[in-house]
Amino acid sequence: MRTVKHWIGGSLVDGAGERRLPVYDPATGETQAEVVAATADEVRAAVRAALDAQPAWRAASLSRRAEVMFRFRDLVDANRLQIASLLSAEHGKTVADAGGEVARGLENVEFAAGAPHLLKGGYSEQAATGVDVYSIRQPLGVVAGITPFNFPAMVPMWMFCNALVAGNTFVLKPSEKDPSVSLLLADLLRRAGLPDGAFNVVQGDKLAVDALIADPDVQALSFVGSTPVARAIYEAGTRAGKRVQALGGAKNHMVVLPDADVDAAADAAVSAGFGSAGERCMAVSVVVAVGSAGDALVPAIASRLEKIRVGPASDPDAEMGPLITGSHRDRVAGFLDETGGQVVVDGRQATAAEGPGFFLGPSLVDHVEAGSAFYTEEIFGPVLSVVRVDTYDEALKLVNDNPYGNGTAIFTRDGGAARRFQYDAVCGMVGVNVPIPVPVAYYSFGGWKASLFGDLHMYGPEGLQFYTRTKVVTSRWPDPATSEVDLGFPKVR
Ligand code: NAD
Repeated sequence: MRTVKHWIGGSLVDGAGERRLPVYDPATGETQAEVVAATADEVRAAVRAALDAQPAWRAASLSRRAEVMFRFRDLVDANRLQIASLLSAEHGKTVADAGGEVARGLENVEFAAGAPHLLKGGYSEQAATGVDVYSIRQPLGVVAGITPFNFPAMVPMWMFCNALVAGNTFVLKPSEKDPSVSLLLADLLRRAGLPDGAFNVVQGDKLAVDALIADPDVQALSFVGSTPVARAIYEAGTRAGKRVQALGGAKNHMVVLPDADVDAAADAAVSAGFGSAGERCMAVSVVVAVGSAGDALVPAIASRLEKIRVGPASDPDAEMGPLITGSHRDRVAGFLDETGGQVVVDGRQATAAEGPGFFLGPSLVDHVEAGSAFYTEEIFGPVLSVVRVDTYDEALKLVNDNPYGNGTAIFTRDGGAARRFQYDAVCGMVGVNVPIPVPVAYYSFGGWKASLFGDLHMYGPEGLQFYTRTKVVTSRWPDPATSEVDLGFPKVR
């Protein structure tokens, strides 16, 4: 059985731990590899390697660090298919979808390559007579990232590109469910010229994360995953004196007004609800149909679901793959036992759901009651709810009362209504006729409420802010002729 190794100090390292965690092939249900969960000593070795590498990496010029990002960009670009194939073999998403993930990750490499411009500080000449004041951004030191199963390439890139280019060194703890792509990225970083020890990977689960939280040499933690874990890591990490950004789960609502184009809204709901089998934190999981909108929209969505081809990533015609594990598939299917609404399409009856793989067909449930468990829980699978309301205000209330605040979208032809929604929605990312409003890499990604614990969003400008701290220098080069003792508090006027 293949075992997935760690990457410490610039090379692969066999795990010496005793706990072994299965990596399934979601398309067949078989175990294809094992993760040897990192011990506390192995986590310490990775942090130590990062600590040793940090002074020299920080001292490398900005141009040099940016050059590594440029080279890494070319290597990721040249190896898109290999990265996409590797991640889809462990995750189950189609290779085309995995290619989209790599492309969105690449945007973050390109953004980080602009660090020489982005890390410029401010300068105020003559803040007082003969005194200049300027600000500089300095790295934190060793920082760590803990990532979810659903984007094994992109989410690590959200983190480590900005962290590294700012002069930090990095320890990644990827999801134990699809861990291999992290090692491919580590090797590409090495080939791009990143010094040994600047990027490390420890495989494992909660115990490895606990060791990172407890390690006093880890200055900051970036986390992406489910809300209970995000909250726990935020609390434990900040208690340990670390800077933490912890992105959690979601329940994204797509509001459809009666004037929306029905076909465009149906296409968007199906793409955003069932792409990657609904295992996206920005997936649309609830369509809120206002007034008469649901009458034409629900049949339009249902007719599209019949045509979705569910199959393994190895099938080039497959549009939707399996779920990540058998237990997750069973949990998602279990929600369909008690929807409280009207099941229009039942994914449990799909042919693909019969085999040994972790497949489940797409499901659509109409007239879902807000407040039911089916409505409230993050299902994280190919299940779309439709809630019907009479007015825009009722739709907005649903969005704003939801404990999550990751993404939301409005579909309408009315610019005034869209602008009002953008103004009113209590949510970190809003789409106007765009169902998955994941910001481009030169903005930042993050939800509000229970979708993010911390102050700064991930990647983009806020990502660079997270991985640096500001120092302000007040400087005078006195003219010896005018120097004198003055015990008064320094004044600027
Ligand atoms: P998860 O919370 O189970 O795991 C995420 C990471 O945390 C993994 O590396 C895992 O090993 C580790 N982990 C799990 N339990 C832990 C614990 N008790 N203590 C410490 N570490 C622990 O999430 P997942 O199932 O891998 O991913 C799906 C979830 O991630 C969904 O809730 C989804 O909405 C969310 N997600 C959010 C975003 C976002 O940007 N907000 C993006 C992607 C995924």
